Amino acid sequence: MALLNFLGAIQQVTGSCYLIETYDKKNILLECGMQQGGDSENNRDDNGNEPRSAFAFNPETIDAVVISHAHIDHSGMLPRLVSEGFRGPIYATDATCELMELMLLDSAHIQEKDAEWENRWRARKGRKPIKPMYVSADAARVMKQLVAVSYETLTKVVPDVKVSFHDAGHIIGSAIVKLEFHEPNDSVRTLVFSGDLGGGCSPLMKDPAVLKHADVLMLESTYGDRDHRCSEDTLDELAEILRQAHEDGGNVLIPAFSVGRTQDILFHLGRFYQEGRLPQHTVYLDSPMAIRANEIYMRHREDFDKTNSQALTESGFQNAKDWLPILKLTPTPEESMAINKVTSGAIIVAGSGMCTGGRIIHHFKHNLWRENCHMIFTGFQARGTTGRAIVDGAKTVRVFREDIMVGLKVHTLGGFSAHAGQSQLIEWASNFANKPELHLIHGEVEKMKILQDEFKQRLDWDVNIPELGDRVAL
Ligand SMILES: [Zn+2]
Repeated sequence: MALLNFLGAIQQVTGSCYLIETYDKKNILLECGMQQGGDSENNRDDNGNEPRSAFAFNPETIDAVVISHAHIDHSGMLPRLVSEGFRGPIYATDATCELMELMLLDSAHIQEKDAEWENRWRARKGRKPIKPMYVSADAARVMKQLVAVSYETLTKVVPDVKVSFHDAGHIIGSAIVKLEFHEPNDSVRTLVFSGDLGGGCSPLMKDPAVLKHADVLMLESTYGDRDHRCSEDTLDELAEILRQAHEDGGNVLIPAFSVGRTQDILFHLGRFYQEGRLPQHTVYLDSPMAIRANEIYMRHREDFDKTNSQALTESGFQNAKDWLPILKLTPTPEESMAINKVTSGAIIVAGSGMCTGGRIIHHFKHNLWRENCHMIFTGFQARGTTGRAIVDGAKTVRVFREDIMVGLKVHTLGGFSAHAGQSQLIEWASNFANKPELHLIHGEVEKMKILQDEFKQRLDWDVNIPELGDRVAL
């Protein structure tokens, strides 16, 4: 009998990680996500020494890894796993493998830079330097261990265990993971892991695939407490803000995550352009990472939702510029800095989504204090981030050791979530007619409890909220 260990994204939304031990002692790691928003110091002691392992298990004993999608909170610790001795295959969909190359190398770069910065003040205090969590060479090594698998294809992971990926509709390549365990008595046990479930508001992504059978089901619960509004109203609101911004004569800043949200925003802006509802003269995509993510989205456009991709295809869509002719890509620092001279009529889309770094910060200096500019938040802003401070009405924010007044008009649009809302989660799970053993993961505990109550009331289904370190038999 196989055992499932809950090691991460337990009663919280980041650090997705589950270990499965099979009956014949093979170890499969489902997800290898980085914990975000916390203190990256927490895996080091005060002298800068790292504990022996960043994991609750020995990476050398892992036989194979399965990843649902490329977001860092699901894949970000893979380079570390490899640096600690994991040498087996990593299974993921084609698009996920391409995105991971982009995102893990970027993440390694951030780890290196952070450690460098940290070591500068450590040196001044006479403390020992720290090592980065991982380096670019580790991320490069991950690429050699990737095994790309198409959707809906049964693939052997270890003897007697097969995996298949099913479109989760969250970001390109995102998957619901189904694992089949063939036991010695010829019985088959099935574990379905929802991954991050879409069906939210992304215009490019399909609804999540419907699966009907599982013995054990793991369901994400990011929006376990509520349904979110995503409708034409949100888009009308966006169009109205852009009209107002044009009238005010300033620029529009849109901080956005490079993978997923940026492509959705560009899709909407393209539609506005074609409908004559986009008064600005240029949309700058000022993010090297988002520019490369766009290319990966393009390569996998057969996975787009057909309703919208129809319009894209008819536009002769080969790249994002066919859809949005006023799009200007600014990959180099020089091109990015040239935007500083543009004082009106521009929309600037840049990362990071929560304004914790990235090029969006550079645009603060030239736009944040100006009353005729606008800033539009389309994604969740976590506590402690600059984005959250601005949303909460901060009068000034500190950017590169300088306090800059928040003079521009701030808008928060809630209708762009890439996650399923409460009703969609319950509806998707209700396709499993046999009511499998259900574990809620990837959510804050208060929200999980609300979802747990809903399952009980609507479907008379008793669902479990695992604790960190819990272990269940499959
Ligand atoms: Zn995700």
